[in-house]
Amino acid sequence: MRIPIYCRSCLDEGIQTNSIGLKFAHHGVLENGIYESICSHGHSNTTILDAAKFELLFDIGMMAICDGYYRDAVSSFASSLERFYELYINSTLFTKSKSSDKTAELVWKKISNQSERQLGAFILLYTKENKAIPDLLKNDGNKANSTKFRNNVIHKGYIPSLEEALIFGETIHKLLSSYIKTIEKDNEKLRQFVDYYKSILPKNPPTKKCMNSQCKSFSMLRQVGGSRASDFEHIKLQFSNFGNRDDNYKKLRINGSFKNENR
Ligand SMILES: [Zn+2]
Repeated sequence: MRIPIYCRSCLDEGIQTNSIGLKFAHHGVLENGIYESICSHGHSNTTILDAAKFELLFDIGMMAICDGYYRDAVSSFASSLERFYELYINSTLFTKSKSSDKTAELVWKKISNQSERQLGAFILLYTKENKAIPDLLKNDGNKANSTKFRNNVIHKGYIPSLEEALIFGETIHKLLSSYIKTIEKDNEKLRQFVDYYKSILPKNPPTKKCMNSQCKSFSMLRQVGGSRASDFEHIKLQFSNFGNRDDNYKKLRINGSFKNENR
């Protein structure tokens, strides 16, 4: 995936740098979310991608589908779900920890390298906070909505089809949306979650004029139809407009789904 870069100075001066307006470059994804570049008019730019890891990884999964890397898409979607668990655990821990953030940090360190421990922590904290058991990936069956499918792809080198990658992405989207919509039901819990989320976003360098952007799939800073979790059809449309160099983009736009593709 590459991040579209716009020039703030060209925008301010009304300069059109290409046929569609002000986008002048694409940048490879960076861990720190801060993208430095210079446009063709010599302006220095800093673009900040305001995104938590789960949001960025879901976008990377969608772009991998568009580019035909279905195995990478499944891997990114699976990581997106795990990073949401991390965000939820930490936002709950750091919000509820009355003693000190040090305690929360030490607790997180105990589980930070073991995904099964994180899943257990998420289930317990989510159930306690919301008085409801969270929906999870199914354990049984070979279908593309199961942990077995995910493990086959990630650990056994299985190459999924386009349809399987899309089913898995939609399944992960459904889980993430259900968690976000549950958080949105309680204004105080939502405020705490978003406050923690904002605290982990990349910080604008104070001396630089920055452009800020968000991910296309999920952003806790943006609401579509009254929720921060937009529906999957809407997300597919966001990616269908990303370019026209590949047939998969067109399929997203024309059919709204990939169901007609044969392997
Ligand atoms: Zn410029």
